[in-house]
Amino acid sequence: MPLYEFDCTDCGEAFEKRVRLSDSLDSIACPHCGGIKTQKKLSQFAVKGGSSPTPTSSASSCSTGGT
Ligand SMILES: [Zn+2]
Repeated sequence: MPLYEFDCTDCGEAFEKRVRLSDSLDSIACPHCGGIKTQKKLSQFAVKGGSSPTPTSSASSCSTGGT
């Protein structure tokens, strides 16, 4: 599912939401105020240059206590 960016014209909240192609992009409810006066941003995919925390799970301690 593509991740779209929306702007709420009610509260000004910007949020991202995954919507299906069959879903109407005009009736996406704002998670902040619940309003549906939201506008899809032009950017089709939300490209955020944020720093995603990469879990450094190198050693998976799987201790199987065998008998
Ligand atoms: Zn809102």
